[in-house]
Amino acid sequence: MQSYLLTDQYRRPIQDLRISVTDRCNFRCSYCMPKEIFGTDCAFMHKDELLSFEEIMRLVSLFASQGVSKIRLTGGEPLLRNDLPVLVAAIKQIPEIKDLGLTTNGTLLGKQAQSLYDAGLRRLNISLDALDPKLFGQMNGRGIPTDHILKQIHYAQQIGFKIKINMVVQKNVNDAEIIPMAQYFKNCGITLRFIEFMDVGNDNSWSFQKVVTKQNILQKLQQSFQLEPIEPTRFGEVAKYYRYAESDAQVGFITSVSESFCSSCTRGRLSSDGTFYNCLFASQGLDLRDLLRHGADDHTLLQAIVQTWTQRKDRYSDERTAQTAVSRPKISMSYIGG
Ligand code: SAM
Ligand code: SF4
Ligand code: SF4
Repeated sequence: MQSYLLTDQYRRPIQDLRISVTDRCNFRCSYCMPKEIFGTDCAFMHKDELLSFEEIMRLVSLFASQGVSKIRLTGGEPLLRNDLPVLVAAIKQIPEIKDLGLTTNGTLLGKQAQSLYDAGLRRLNISLDALDPKLFGQMNGRGIPTDHILKQIHYAQQIGFKIKINMVVQKNVNDAEIIPMAQYFKNCGITLRFIEFMDVGNDNSWSFQKVVTKQNILQKLQQSFQLEPIEPTRFGEVAKYYRYAESDAQVGFITSVSESFCSSCTRGRLSSDGTFYNCLFASQGLDLRDLLRHGADDHTLLQAIVQTWTQRKDRYSDERTAQTAVSRPKISMSYIGG
């Protein structure tokens, strides 16, 4: 059995680090940054408050020394951060990092996909919640048309990226899009992942009634397609995958609500201002930026990281109730990084 360097109170190793490179976004998805709350007067972080690339790199090296081998760049919208390919190229130089991915809403790929690929990025998760243009425009809160995102997806596919599509499914909002989305991406040979609507942050009016579970989605899909389950390939795999019969195309499910996976959660999160969180639903974290900017040496930073992870007992999704979903203070997803 593999032995891990750093494990928490439930013996879960730290293997993945999700880094939010900005809290800003050019979308206002109702389930993440509803426009009524994230309005024109919304105060985002000043440039100086964000971790610099040098600061991020120093932390990535320290996390890598403790067992992190997988990095995901996210946000907010990560492509709004200037010079992102510079960060990608630097992370690619760290030998312990075996896997680097980026999650994006796709709007800016036309300008940046090639330079990200040239910097060494190979994996993209692109979010798209509907094919219907009117509905998608409403869901992204900015009237961005579906066609624009589909063009970016095909452009990135041509460049050579491995792409997965993320679709957050909400009852009576976009559940009618499940089959058209599945059909479209099956035809393109791109994996579509259905994400159960989660109670991240405190602003998205979440309730159990609005969640469309994996079981519901699978039943719908099975009326149109023949699907076979695929065995997970690694400990800590977030999605459960199925293969379409007689084809290599796959669909996945991220079942954070109906079949929570806290017992194998190996993910830490670094917010855009350098706070390290043990859980997507945490309300407190470790202020690494403060330590960095007060001249902490590597030993001090490592001690703080190790102490935070070894004390980790988080298993929010296992314990979620209708009560905790509304009563517990949580940080927003655009800040902590989805
Ligand atoms: N802006 C980028 C994007 O949308 O892909 C990256 C950041 S976004 C916070 C990362 C992922 O979180 C997206 O796939 C998004 O759909 C998902 N997400 C955001 N809010 C969610 C929620 N309430 N429930 C489930 N997934 C959510
Ligand atoms: Fe922006 Fe992504 Fe949140 Fe949508 S899900 S508002 S694109 S950060
Ligand atoms: Fe990991 Fe927290 Fe999500 Fe559980 S709720 S899977 S501990 S991030």
